[in-house]
Amino acid sequence: MGALPKRRISTGRKGRRRTAIRLRVPKLVACPNCGQLKKSHQVCPLCGYYKGKEVVKIKIKKGKKSTKGR
Ligand SMILES: [Zn+2]
Repeated sequence: MGALPKRRISTGRKGRRRTAIRLRVPKLVACPNCGQLKKSHQVCPLCGYYKGKEVVKIKIKKGKKSTKGR
């Protein structure tokens, strides 16, 4: 015999189950180093600092020069 559920899951119950998934909003906190908003528990994308230490080296972007040759 096939392993089948005895009852159909009701729309309400299905909805309640589905609320558990796809409800993740990334929490943004201000970076203690540069003040930029960043995702908590993650290295700041701007300065590369995490827990008061520089973890990732961030290359400083230089001003854009129009490199389009004419
Ligand atoms: Zn930062």
